[in-house]
Amino acid sequence: MRAELPSIPSAKIGPGLYIVATPIGNLGDITLRAVAVLGQCALVACEDTRVTGKLLKHLGIKARLQRLDDHASPETRARIIDEARVSPVALVSDAGTPLISDPGYRLVREAQAAGVGVTSVPGACAAVSALAMAGLPSDRFLFAGFLPAKEKAREETLAGLAQVGATLVFYETAPRLEKSLRAIAALWPEREVAVARELTKLHEDCRRGTAAALAEHYAANPPKGEIVLLVGPPADSETPEVDADALLREAIAAMSPSKAAAQVAKATGGDRQALYTRAMELKGR
Ligand code: SAM
Repeated sequence: MRAELPSIPSAKIGPGLYIVATPIGNLGDITLRAVAVLGQCALVACEDTRVTGKLLKHLGIKARLQRLDDHASPETRARIIDEARVSPVALVSDAGTPLISDPGYRLVREAQAAGVGVTSVPGACAAVSALAMAGLPSDRFLFAGFLPAKEKAREETLAGLAQVGATLVFYETAPRLEKSLRAIAALWPEREVAVARELTKLHEDCRRGTAAALAEHYAANPPKGEIVLLVGPPADSETPEVDADALLREAIAAMSPSKAAAQVAKATGGDRQALYTRAMELKGR
């Protein structure tokens, strides 16, 4: 006999901003807590009111929707924060976890600065799901969002990540996948790469191989849908030991300590402030 399904939590929630993750495809991936929180929010800030309207309809939830994308004005954010002072307000994105390559960063900071409580209601995230099923080292990973669309910028971004001793995780689009794979093949022909497509959906697919082999595969079978692209760490990074000092020395010979710290932080995943302090020390010697 099937066990009783857990029920939706009924405890009343207080005022504040609730960052609520929503499914990345399979509607069954909404959490019980997300349903409970959304059900108690009179206002839901969202990227696209049509997308979120459909989700709320599916859940049988009625709420006012306020569009909040990267172009939202400070006044729009202030109104959302004012409402969150007195009642629960949710922030959702079209899919997955808000703020992960999605809007919300300014709203969260401004809410915190205004003394409004900010709570995360976790759930689906394509980057994490892809990492979980790619079969690449998952002990350290660096999420790098979308690769730039322009060839030169894409190559520079990849080159800047060359020293990172961790699996790299990118969001990618179907039309650009092959170009990105070819750029990765040129830089790192030996590294293992994975492409996770249409996660949680009917045509979910995850392939692993060299970037060149995957580029050939997708040239012959043009991909559709949503994609996460992952690149395994360099072979010698089992015990990642990046010589940040050497990188900093090289960088401060060519640029200001602040720019050098930013560049090395990007390349190593290190803390920019700490690298800046170290860059100043090295420059003073
Ligand atoms: N905030 C979302 C999250 O938590 O995953 C990501 C939003 S970002 C604007 C959208 C990108 O995430 C897509 O272009 C794709 O790269 C990736 N993505 C979202 N859903 C996906 C899925 N079901 N399968 C594979 N990738 C997905």
